[in-house]
Amino acid sequence: LKTVKEKDFELYKIVEEELNRQKTGLEMIASESFVSTGIMELQGSILTNKTMEGFPGKRYHAGHEVIDKMEILGIQRAKALFGADHANIQPHSGSQANQCVYASIINPKDKVMGMRLDQGGHLTHGSKANFSGKIYDFISYGLDKETELIDYTELERLANKHRPKLIVAGASSYPRFIDYERISNIAKSINAYFLVDMAHVAGLVAAGIHPSPVPYADFVTSTTTKTLAGARGGFILCKNEFSKKIDKATFPGVQGSSHLHIMAAKTFTFKNAMTDEYKVCMKQVVKNAKKLSDALQKKGFRIVSGGTDNHLLLVDLRPKKLTGAQLEEALAFVGITVNRNMIPFDPEKPMITSGVRIGTTAMTIKGMKEREMEEIAEMINKVAENINDKGALDKIKENARDLALKYPLYHGYFDF
Ligand code: PLP
Repeated sequence: LKTVKEKDFELYKIVEEELNRQKTGLEMIASESFVSTGIMELQGSILTNKTMEGFPGKRYHAGHEVIDKMEILGIQRAKALFGADHANIQPHSGSQANQCVYASIINPKDKVMGMRLDQGGHLTHGSKANFSGKIYDFISYGLDKETELIDYTELERLANKHRPKLIVAGASSYPRFIDYERISNIAKSINAYFLVDMAHVAGLVAAGIHPSPVPYADFVTSTTTKTLAGARGGFILCKNEFSKKIDKATFPGVQGSSHLHIMAAKTFTFKNAMTDEYKVCMKQVVKNAKKLSDALQKKGFRIVSGGTDNHLLLVDLRPKKLTGAQLEEALAFVGITVNRNMIPFDPEKPMITSGVRIGTTAMTIKGMKEREMEEIAEMINKVAENINDKGALDKIKENARDLALKYPLYHGYFDF
């Protein structure tokens, strides 16, 4: 940041401070990763200078010849990576990708089904605080109280009762595989469209270690962040029959000009995700999540649904007589970053919660393996057991910093 340092020292210092936080802390927010230096080069590239609307071959500005090559390459890569008929790589974010799908096939007030926010769904799956819940008539499905898995029987009952035009699957805090085939069959039986928002698990799908929704869903949306560990943006995959509708809904329906520097970084993200090195990393992400889950369980935490199939775990803190807010704050103090999270059927309010969500992507990219997950579980337990002991927390803070510094950022292991 040479120029920024020279021309805007105030802002430069903030970025440096954040860099230092990222270097010295244990980043375990499930939606985070560390992106490769290639992503950062492209996101800061001259491509930001160009304004471009439309799609390759159908542009609204001159000077599109070079950019067309890039968008075509990105689309080809997304299609090849996920085995999809059609890809649109323009959505600025995961939320906008969902908005584009809704705008392409349903109308305001139409009935839609999505997973409850407080049981794992995303805001854009029908929360009343979000455009999705304000514009469309969402009916929510959730989890079985005993198994803490999606209650497919209830989902089917609700689908038959309400006959929505669209069913949305996918989640922000669900640690288990989702039975896409089963939901697809339910959608087909009532003539509804089926959208899978795979934002959290897209990297695991790309690596072939999580079931792919592509064969079952009419539409698949995702971010290129999270487990895909790439550009900060979104994309849509769909069956050929919906390609025109999806493109039209994205532009001019929901968005204006494309963010071409980000589109380039998405294109690079898709290439990264095809490498063997990336697949090894994603396998390790899942192994690490399982190890962390087992280690915390052994220390008396309750893990929602008994474990994890992916990159995240949900920890019920009630056996430790703590709330999510309390543990999040204490962990942040020692440099372990997680987020408070509702557990299924949580008795606490959303700002308090009984749980935390922990993800392993970022630390795995830095090079950590099972042994480090055991160390982290030990630290989390010590924090939980010494939450009011400043001296003990200071000591854990030193340990967390030492562990983080053993795996330097951008000298690392998986800079794909
Ligand atoms: N869909 C799911 C399942 C998510 O977890 C998120 C993440 O935050 C999004 C969509 C939204 O992505 P974005 O933050 O890029 O809008």
